[in-house]
Amino acid sequence: MTDQHDGTRCVHAGLPDPSPGQPFLPGPVFAAPYHLDPRQGPAAAPNGYGRPDNPTRRLLEAAIGELEGGECRTFASGQAAITGLLLALLKPGDTVVLPTDGYFPVRAFATDTLQQVGVTVRFVPTAGPYPDLDGVRLVLVETPANPGLDVVDLPALAARVHAAGALLAVDNTTATPLGQRPLDLGADLVVASGTKALTGHSDLLLGYVAARSADLVETVTAWRTVTGAVPGAFDAWLAHRSLATLDLRLGRQTANAAALADLLAGRDDVTGLRWPGRPGDPAYPVASAQMRRMPGVLSFDLGDADRVARFLDAARLVAAATSFGGLHTSADRRAQWGDDTPPGFVRLSCGVEDTVDLVADVTAALDASR
Ligand SMILES: *Cc1c(COP(=O)(O)O)cnc(C)c1O
Repeated sequence: MTDQHDGTRCVHAGLPDPSPGQPFLPGPVFAAPYHLDPRQGPAAAPNGYGRPDNPTRRLLEAAIGELEGGECRTFASGQAAITGLLLALLKPGDTVVLPTDGYFPVRAFATDTLQQVGVTVRFVPTAGPYPDLDGVRLVLVETPANPGLDVVDLPALAARVHAAGALLAVDNTTATPLGQRPLDLGADLVVASGTKALTGHSDLLLGYVAARSADLVETVTAWRTVTGAVPGAFDAWLAHRSLATLDLRLGRQTANAAALADLLAGRDDVTGLRWPGRPGDPAYPVASAQMRRMPGVLSFDLGDADRVARFLDAARLVAAATSFGGLHTSADRRAQWGDDTPPGFVRLSCGVEDTVDLVADVTAALDASR
């Protein structure tokens, strides 16, 4: 299906072959144990026990794997996928490189848990410069990074990482596999939260890892089976159902982000605007070369916490909420979570509302909050 376009791929990804009388997407299979063949036991069927085996989850993994261009394993959340990947691949004495400006809980996990088990953690800004990578086992980057939206040139970094004998993992949460295919750009592993734009309805938590190497897939699968951080059948089904509209949702979210970026860039009461799709943004040259489409997320600064609160009070279409990539436009003042961003820093996630309505609402709310 690689010759087909994004909308077509999303609608068909992971669906079983048509069969008269069967639904397009089979409903969730709820099972802890399954019936076993009395003689052959678990060798007779793909389903023995729910922790390693669930057919609803396998269909979702086929779908995400198709979009990423690799084998996929889903996890209970993005954090379960990322921490699982780090713990499965790193041994005491190994060195890992992580972003200084990436998802805050990953940095917290690295300085608490990873360092305690004897892994050396080095932090590097997403946009670089990257140090000498000799002796490094794994480089994990986030591009575009959440929440600052800097990007890194993946093919160039992959060449350096591989020359040092290390692995490159890319957090693809912000871009989604329609925005960027890290495995095609030289990464060994993709890891992501499916909670955000991938599923986009603000109603479930999901994570995944994807890779082409059978060894890496096996390591991740074995880790997930022993630690048990699997998504439930209902969430897996809901995620697969939502995936069909990813192309449509992203199309509107990107258009809304472009319109809001134009609006915000022209205002003297907004500073620090970042959107990798805007010519003039520091991330634009690399982002426009390696990304297939731009995210619906932008960031900017309104000066202080009180102005952000006044803005959110005045806006009718911008919900005060964390996370991003959902159907509803939302904005998050990151510093309220203990993140190391300035007090007036806002990450705004565009929903699928009509662009004219959103631009009018944000304009009015900025005016009212001055
Ligand atoms: C949200 C997020 C995560 C964590 O995902 P959860 O599903 O919330 O556990 C990891 N990385 C990035 C870039 C994120 O935005």
